[in-house]
Amino acid sequence: MTGMFDLSGRVAVVTGANTGIGQAIALALAGAGADIAAVGRTPATETAAKVTALGRRAILVAADLSTIEPVDRIVAETLESLGGLDILVNNAGIIRRADSVDFTEADWDAVIDTNLKSVFFLAQAAGRHMITNGRGKIINIASMLTFQGGIRVPSYTASKSGVGGLTKLLANEWSARGINVNAIAPGYIATNNTDALRADPDRNASILGRIPAGRWGDAADLGGAAVFLASSASDYVDGHILAVDGGWLAR
Ligand code: NDP
Repeated sequence: MTGMFDLSGRVAVVTGANTGIGQAIALALAGAGADIAAVGRTPATETAAKVTALGRRAILVAADLSTIEPVDRIVAETLESLGGLDILVNNAGIIRRADSVDFTEADWDAVIDTNLKSVFFLAQAAGRHMITNGRGKIINIASMLTFQGGIRVPSYTASKSGVGGLTKLLANEWSARGINVNAIAPGYIATNNTDALRADPDRNASILGRIPAGRWGDAADLGGAAVFLASSASDYVDGHILAVDGGWLAR
C-alpha cells in the first residue's frame, strides 16, 4: 500500500488480538503494511499466521490484562522482537451483566481493571516510548456506552465512559509531542461478546430494528477506521471518538 494510509515499517501492538475486533484490526493494520505484536491471554496463533501470510512480521505476547503487571513487558518484548512501537490498539475488554441492585464488587473490579486500568497503564507504558520517539498512534476501543447509559452493565458503562475521557485527556497531554490518541466506538458487532444477544430472537430483532444500516456489524467493519487512525491520514485528529455503528448513535 502506498500513500497516506501506508503503514509499512510501522509496528502495532494489538491487545485481545486472538479473536473478534482485535483480530480484525490486527489483520487490517497488517494489510496496510504494519508488523504486529499480538497480545493475548489466549495465544493469538491464528492471527499471527494470517499476519505472516500477508507478508508482515508477527509476534505473540502472552499477557493477562486483568492486572497491569504485564504492561512494561509488552512494550519491552515488542521493542526487542520487532524493533519499534508506533501504534497501540487497546482492544482487550470484557463485560459483566446484572441488575445494578445485585451487581457485585467482583464484577465491578474485573471489568474496571481490564477495560480501564490496563488501558491507561498500557497507554502510559507505550506513550513513554512514543514520547521519546516523537511520534505514535494510540487507538482505544470504546463503545456506544461511552455515550449512552446502557442497562444492566454498570461497570462496563463506567469503564467505556472512562475510556472516552482518558482518550481526550491523553490527547490533550500528548498531541503536541507527536502522539495522536483517539478511540473507536463500535456499534453492535457480531463477535463472541454478543453471541448471547444474537441467540435471543426477541433481543436480536429489537437490536436489528434500531440499527439504521439494518444489520449487525462485522469485526472487519472496524478495519478501515483503525487504519485511518493508525496512519498519517489522521495526523491532525486528536481526542476523537469515531463511532463505527451502522448509524446507531445517529438515531
Ligand atoms: P471478544 O470477546 O471476541 O474479544 C475480547 C478480547 O479481549 C479477546 O481477545 C479476549 O481474550 C481479550 N481479553 C479479555 N480479557 C482479557 C484479559 N484479562 N487479558 C487479556 N486479554 C483479554 O469481543 P469483541 O471482539 O467484541 O471485543 C473487543 C473490544 O470491543 C472490547 O473492548 C469490547 O468491549 C469492545 N466492543 C465490542 C462491541 C461488540 O458489539 N462486539 C461493541 C462495543 C465495544 P481471551 O479470548 O483470551 O479472553
